Amino acid sequence: MTADNIMRGVVLKGGRRLAIQDYAIPVPGSGQVLLKMQASGLCGSDLRAIYRPENPKSEGAEGYRGVVAGHEPCGQIVAIGPAVSPEWKVNDRVVVYHIHGCGSCRECRAGRFISCQSELGRQAYGWQRDGGHSDYILASAVDLVRLLEPLSYIDGSVIACGLGTAYAATLRAQISGLDTVLITGLGPVGLGAALLAQKEGAIVYGLEVDPFRRHAAEELGITTLDGASPKIKEIINELTGGYGPSVVIDCSGHPGARLTGLEVARDWARIVFVGEGGSVSFDVSPLVIHKSLSIFGSWVCSISQMESLVENLVKWKLFPERLVTHVFSVGGAEKAYSLFDSGKTGKVIIASEEEAKRWSMSK
Ligand SMILES: [Zn+2]
Ligand SMILES: [Zn+2]
Repeated sequence: MTADNIMRGVVLKGGRRLAIQDYAIPVPGSGQVLLKMQASGLCGSDLRAIYRPENPKSEGAEGYRGVVAGHEPCGQIVAIGPAVSPEWKVNDRVVVYHIHGCGSCRECRAGRFISCQSELGRQAYGWQRDGGHSDYILASAVDLVRLLEPLSYIDGSVIACGLGTAYAATLRAQISGLDTVLITGLGPVGLGAALLAQKEGAIVYGLEVDPFRRHAAEELGITTLDGASPKIKEIINELTGGYGPSVVIDCSGHPGARLTGLEVARDWARIVFVGEGGSVSFDVSPLVIHKSLSIFGSWVCSISQMESLVENLVKWKLFPERLVTHVFSVGGAEKAYSLFDSGKTGKVIIASEEEAKRWSMSK
């Protein structure tokens, strides 16, 4: 390695430790492009599955193989390998859909790389192959989504996982202007779901116990409710004309919040579980069967849903970097992770110098 072909990359070590290592800048192979990294988000799943555990899992969809971390990459094409579609050109701005699928199984053919059935072919960026907390990233061209103007690289990074996940949940619930939506848990995914549901025409309430998060949501124009209030069910009932919400999206992963959502939902409501982890227990007959509820699980959006999200954000003039509270360079990764781990932030991003500067000037 010589000084001008070296890049830095962040590797998570478990037990709240990380290292910044030097790598040779990779050369794109067949079907691949090299991106200059511009923005790479930190995600709650990075904390839960890799950063916090003393010994992160190395197998399965959330197995971490000691690669460069970061699964929310957004950047600019600087080099193109052989056998890449001519639609991609140097200087194009792109979001990387963060799961590379085998391309051949039934799920991949439907664009749902997240559910790829191939153990060897399925590789998530920042988990099983090098991710975005770096100066450059090698991406497969089939995983690229064009970042439309005037969206910023930081917007693109928020789209890459968190907002895409929120969008998939709102699509699953088929939200429209006929709906009253309750979002439980106002972390980055919950905030995103609330903003999207508003744009999709619904009346939206956000339930959250943390006053810091409620304040941040109110600043974004979301009406919030205190999840710790002993009268919360009566309050929601009154706000919804005695009927309850027609859609509940749980972004908390918390048993109590999930149960509240099921209890306050009106008959025939759609419930989407998107917040990871935890459990919930309830009486099936009165709560689900007799109310005729539909309960869905929703993981990450498909790549075509991500393309439609990019298109709609431009149309709605909704710029998701509003969810971002802190931006760091690759060198500031340690601070970025410890701050994000405190729970007292919105979205935290690792960005290039230019993008970090643009963001701080725009504040
Ligand atoms: Zn994520
Ligand atoms: Zn597949």
